[in-house]
Amino acid sequence: MALISTLKPHARRHVSTIMELYPRLRLTSARRSRWRNRLVGGVPGSLHLSGRAADLSGTTADQRAALRLARRMGAVEAIDEGDHAHVAW
Ligand SMILES: [Zn+2]
Repeated sequence: MALISTLKPHARRHVSTIMELYPRLRLTSARRSRWRNRLVGGVPGSLHLSGRAADLSGTTADQRAALRLARRMGAVEAIDEGDHAHVAW
C-alpha cells in the first residue's frame, strides 16, 4: 500500500498537490501506529496517529516551498524539522 493512502482524504489531497508541484519531494512518514510513533520519537498526541500529518523530505528549497504552500492551504501544522517538512491538516 502506498504511504500516501494512509492519510485521511483531506490531508491526502493537500499532500498530493504539494508533491505534484514539487515532484522531487519524498513522503517519508504519514499515518503511524502508536508503536511506530514512539519508535521514531513522535510526540504522544501527534497528528501522524490519526493520518492527518505527513513528512516531506527533499532539498531545503523544496521543503521550504512545501511549508509555504501548506500554510497557504490552511495547514494546522507546518514545521521545519530540518531534514523534513512536517505538515498537517
Ligand atoms: Zn511529522
